[in-house]
Amino acid sequence: MRRYNFVQLLRNAIGFGEGWQEAWRSPEPKPSYDVVIVGGGGHGLATAYYLAKLHGIRNVAVLEKGWLGGGNTGRNTTVVRSNYLWDESAAIYEHSLKLWEGLSQELNYNVMFSQRNLVMLAHTEHEQNEASRRVHANRLNGIDAEIWSREQTLAFIPILNPSMDIRYPVMGASAQPRAGIARHDAVAWGFARGADALGVDIIQNCEVIGVRREGSRIVGLDTTRGKIDAKKVAFVAAGHSSVLAELAGFRLPIESHPLQAMVSEPIKPVLDTVVMSGTVHAYVSQSDKGELVMGAGIDAFNSYAQRGSLPILEEIASAMIELFPIVSRLKILRSWGGIVDICPDASPIIGKTPVDELFINCGWGTGGFKATPGSGWVLADTIANDRPHKLAEPFSMERFASGRLIDEHGAAAVAH
Ligand SMILES: Cc1cc2nc3c(=O)[nH]c(=O)nc-3n(C[C@H](O)[C@H](O)[C@H](O)COP(=O)(O)OP(=O)(O)OC[C@H]3O[C@@H](n4cnc5c(N)ncnc54)[C@H](O)[C@@H]3O)c2cc1C
Repeated sequence: MRRYNFVQLLRNAIGFGEGWQEAWRSPEPKPSYDVVIVGGGGHGLATAYYLAKLHGIRNVAVLEKGWLGGGNTGRNTTVVRSNYLWDESAAIYEHSLKLWEGLSQELNYNVMFSQRNLVMLAHTEHEQNEASRRVHANRLNGIDAEIWSREQTLAFIPILNPSMDIRYPVMGASAQPRAGIARHDAVAWGFARGADALGVDIIQNCEVIGVRREGSRIVGLDTTRGKIDAKKVAFVAAGHSSVLAELAGFRLPIESHPLQAMVSEPIKPVLDTVVMSGTVHAYVSQSDKGELVMGAGIDAFNSYAQRGSLPILEEIASAMIELFPIVSRLKILRSWGGIVDICPDASPIIGKTPVDELFINCGWGTGGFKATPGSGWVLADTIANDRPHKLAEPFSMERFASGRLIDEHGAAAVAH
């Protein structure tokens, strides 16, 4: 048996994929679709999957200007949690977390969701107070949340710096046991395969470069692969949402910023949870390959460059060494950046736009990976029924006119 696997492996290695079954088709775009989704990240693909699966709308295309998951979906640090402060956020993120819990079974594709607890460190009295406020709010919303003492925290994370003589000693933490990490590419691939099997056309290397309108209504798109008509369109393009909105003739209250992350060389297992520190400003988990996956906050400037940069890496490294002295011995393997779409209240926009039959899902900023299944679910429902899903209602664009903002800066600063 072992020999057979080796021979098979060798054959696959030198066979350039010959005989491999494609996970999804690569069709030519049709002249028209019932629904066209712009953006082949996790959110766009999940929307297409649920449109086909739950609403029977299968004449659907997902247009992706590059490759599937090549945007933020394949660049994020994969933290999944639902411990947001406000009721509206808690509801949509918890809905998503529940979907994560059954996602590998739903897609018949291992998305490697690992519920390994998530610990948010508190280093000051203020942070401890804020943490207990959030834990109480979470519990009222039925979300698992705990307050930990300094001793509990240090016992749970043995590599954490226990010294009281450092700039910000660990005073305690809040924790969400059901939170964790997943495999980002697998999420895109799993949704893509599932959507394709239900008849959705997934079209890569197809950039939307123009929007065609008749009066107040969208009727189609100009793409680098020709014109495509659509009864309904959804923009699900994260950091490039404002560019698309401008093509359609309206403005979004969104700023696009780079967000960087990096991984260390692989090491033996040293960390079996996710740790975040808003004050020292870094967060970390250990991947299945053994790399420490590390990140911090957004770049201060606006940009569309998906690159890492040395000054930010230095900031992340110095924060990490302050929290975990063993990191000073590690080599950094690689770094990268993604372009995140940030709303003034650090909450997403989901729903209708000023253009008829054009829907939008954006503004997830530094924390939308965790929302992938939930966001796709509510957007699909919104598109199918032509009205906002109940969980999406508070996240309409109108909140920036009415002032009913959902300020999640506290939950979304260094915490992703
Ligand atoms: C470094 C980093 C770390 C992060 N860490 C976390 C984390 O730990 N947890 C978490 O929850 N979130 C995290 N995030 C945020 C998360 O990655 C995003 O919120 C989420 O992946 C957004 O998914 P999406 O499908 O909306 O966007 P994307 O995956 O970016 O997909 C949008 C797609 O639209 C395509 N597109 C854009 N313009 C066009 C066009 N004109 N025509 C066709 N296609 C177009 C893009 O190529 C892209 O593939 C992180 C982000 C970064 C960058």
